[in-house]
Amino acid sequence: MALLLAAGMTAAVPGAAAYAQEQTEMETQQAAHQHVWKNAGCTWNSDYSAATFHLVCKDDASHTMDVNAVITKNVMMPTTCTQDGKVRYFAKAAVGSGTFVDWKTVTVPAAGHDWQAQWTWSADYSQATLKLVCANNANHTYETTVKTVKETLAEPDCVTEGLYLYDAIADYDGQRFTDYKRQTAAANPDKHPWIDDVKWTWSPDRSSAQAVFTCWNDESHTLTKDAAVTKTVLKEPTCTEPGEAQYTAAVSAPDDQYTGDESNLTASETVEIPALGHDWGEAKWTWNEDYTKASVTRVCKNDPSHIETADAVITSEEKDGRKIYTASAVLGGETLTDTKTKEVSKEAAAAAQNGSNKNGTKDANAKAVNAKAAKPVKVTAASSAVKTADGSTPAVWGMMIAGGALAAGAACRRKSAKKKA
Ligand SMILES: [Zn+2]
Ligand SMILES: [Zn+2]
Ligand SMILES: [Zn+2]
Ligand SMILES: [Zn+2]
Repeated sequence: MALLLAAGMTAAVPGAAAYAQEQTEMETQQAAHQHVWKNAGCTWNSDYSAATFHLVCKDDASHTMDVNAVITKNVMMPTTCTQDGKVRYFAKAAVGSGTFVDWKTVTVPAAGHDWQAQWTWSADYSQATLKLVCANNANHTYETTVKTVKETLAEPDCVTEGLYLYDAIADYDGQRFTDYKRQTAAANPDKHPWIDDVKWTWSPDRSSAQAVFTCWNDESHTLTKDAAVTKTVLKEPTCTEPGEAQYTAAVSAPDDQYTGDESNLTASETVEIPALGHDWGEAKWTWNEDYTKASVTRVCKNDPSHIETADAVITSEEKDGRKIYTASAVLGGETLTDTKTKEVSKEAAAAAQNGSNKNGTKDANAKAVNAKAAKPVKVTAASSAVKTADGSTPAVWGMMIAGGALAAGAACRRKSAKKKA
């Protein structure tokens, strides 16, 4: 039995020589028993590339034998990109006059397309065409044109060249397909990245200003822009106090290369407005009745509360029967003068001379003479101020004299005039 079992086990290894050996041994040693094998089962490996038949002897179940099968594969339905396929595996073994078979039918899932992408770009990279061809089946194709997305990595300026990236994206069959192109742009000598800090220059009187922009790359690259200047008086000057004015200059940004703050595009300066100084009006003179005193006054045209006044020094001289009075006063360091003239008749002058000689005579006589001497006086007003103050004209004086008015009357007249003055 051990020998038979051993022979049975040996039979598991296929091969004509071994099999013949076994047969010989069986015929020799066990001629009386002929195995009759039946299939007790078939074991497959996981990928169906191999199978083993388990044989049992019909006459004696203790007689067993394993036989490796020969495998053949039969595609019943081919697998495509989109459809499941079916494959049948046949296992076959022949032992003696018997042949043993088994089979497995397996579903092979659809593989899906194996897309091979090819991109074609327009000359300006604004769009790209995606062409898909399936590696499994060249009849499976897809084509679409997409707009690209431009990304600026660097803008060109006066020194640096520009760099752009174009992205093409297309989604199809649950997959995303992408491609990109890089593009450079030559440096542009007219594009300067301006520094935020703007330098300002003003004309001495602040009526004009200029803004100077400087390039980050090269400070010899500058741009000068004329500014619009506006003036705001913060404080008006007076005759004696200075005022204050603010000048504001503004420019627009030089170009799109300026990325600084808007506030850098204006500048202002505050300057002093000199005091105006007084603007004196016409000097007005005031004389007393007998021209022994005078004063002068003038009023500022900027502010009528500014008044200057001074008493004058009077000098007089006689010339050609006239007596000329000159008043002299100093206002604000300036010497001002005014004159009055009295006409003195020769007789009166002579009488006055006599009167003074007869100083020892009677009072009444002296008075009359003095009155006479005083009477024939004609007043010529040299300034309108005096005319008004006097209130009388030479004609009036003449009438009084012709009427033989007394000296007292004349004195009265004069007194009232003096009061008015
Ligand atoms: Zn047997
Ligand atoms: Zn396909
Ligand atoms: Zn520059
Ligand atoms: Zn003034």
